[in-house]
Amino acid sequence: MRIGVLDGRAVVVRGDRAVAVRQASQGRLPDDPMALLDEWPRVRDWAAELPDDAFDLTVTPAALGAPVPRPRQVFAVALNYPPHAAEAGFTPPAEPLVFTKFPACISGPDTTVALPPGKVDWEVELVAVVGRETYRVSEEHAWDAVAGLTVGQDLSERVTQLQGKPAQFSLGKSFPGFGPTGPVLVTPDEFDDPDDLEITGLLNNEAVQHDRTKSMIFPVPELIARLSAVLPLFPGDLVFTGTPAGVGNRMDPPRYLTADDELVSRIEGIGEIRQGFTDVRP
Ligand code: ZN
Repeated sequence: MRIGVLDGRAVVVRGDRAVAVRQASQGRLPDDPMALLDEWPRVRDWAAELPDDAFDLTVTPAALGAPVPRPRQVFAVALNYPPHAAEAGFTPPAEPLVFTKFPACISGPDTTVALPPGKVDWEVELVAVVGRETYRVSEEHAWDAVAGLTVGQDLSERVTQLQGKPAQFSLGKSFPGFGPTGPVLVTPDEFDDPDDLEITGLLNNEAVQHDRTKSMIFPVPELIARLSAVLPLFPGDLVFTGTPAGVGNRMDPPRYLTADDELVSRIEGIGEIRQGFTDVRP
């Protein structure tokens, strides 16, 4: 199942067609995507029964919003791909390095981001969406706690991210629009292997990042298990799972985003998100 948010309403997506959840369920399921995630098992069972002719809406990418617009918690993991850890000058970590992107930065799949002063960099990432309240789940059962996967960009302003000793990552990764996600949330059963997906970041059509998610040091189930060993996770919580090699500040010379750039982030079996940039700040 693929779930999206079209003109603010939760929809089930099949191909380029969609059906509004509330309308098609005759009011039994909510329009609001956050309320929908609270009833995830019911939603999944109901959507599986939908006939193709129920899909009466056309999906236009520009009308899609963040599949999870108001997550309570957003976790992000640093240095989770060995080549990226190496390019950043670190040995692969023994424990996940966790920070947050404050939820105010979460946005949809097709956006224009106002560039703050500084050095704004790209990080294509697989994002796992929690599907039920989860505390102390084992790695073996962790996929059952995941509603689905989506594409994310962990946009990062490197000056703010790295200032101070020790550096604190979270603010530099939380400027408005710095957490684009989408285009849809895809349930794990849709993938042949949800632990092995091609992930690509394209800057002006050039593939600057490319890997497979099986390269992760801490795969999705291990991250869910380790996070939930510490604190409860809630429906709709996001886990940005780390970025492959090829970020701009490790290029020689370093390369940062400008108003002329277009960034496309793509993951096999999910789709792609697209960001433009502007120097004009609201
Ligand atoms: Zn990241």
